[in-house]
Amino acid sequence: KPVGEITADMIDMLSKKSFPLCMQQLHSAMRTHHHLRHGGRQQYSLFLKGIGLSLEEAIKFWRSEFTKIIDGDQFDKKYLYNIRHNYGKEGKKTDYTPYSCMKIITTNTPATGDYHGCPFKHSDQDVLRQKLTASGLRKEDADQVLQYSKGGHYQVACAKMFEVIHGSLTGGDEEAEVSFHHPNQYFEESYKRLHK
Ligand code: SF4
Repeated sequence: KPVGEITADMIDMLSKKSFPLCMQQLHSAMRTHHHLRHGGRQQYSLFLKGIGLSLEEAIKFWRSEFTKIIDGDQFDKKYLYNIRHNYGKEGKKTDYTPYSCMKIITTNTPATGDYHGCPFKHSDQDVLRQKLTASGLRKEDADQVLQYSKGGHYQVACAKMFEVIHGSLTGGDEEAEVSFHHPNQYFEESYKRLHK
């Protein structure tokens, strides 16, 4: 795991190249709205911690975006505790782990205005198609990913998207079924390939 290598200013670039679709969605919503609701902040901040973003860099990252619409004092009052808490620096000092795909898919269903969740499960098919196209997938590849999503195979859909972008996860064995169990697994597989 590339702990310590990841800084706040690298996240835009990493989100495009190495984030699974759920985290791309959270990142772009955050950049667009300069805010994320609690469910989104939890899912995204623990993921970022998992990719190796230090607490100092995490505070820099969230603060610089949120203070585009609120002032620094407000940020400190409303959001700092939560970020420090996720890093085990407040409350019971538990070192919280990033959410697995299963947790993201089966708990805390996103409502309107939320950007957390798994797009393969929670986005409707038209919206999902737009997202896949925006991520650079050709129509036939998007069709295949959408089929898995439609059939309820969300984690397989995610792995297929990975393979379209990065190449086979099974060393070319067409028969082997692949799926992701964790957003950080997607990141690590991608990061490894791009930084060999
Ligand atoms: Fe994120 Fe997992 Fe869904 Fe992929 S399958 S988008 S990693 S929650």
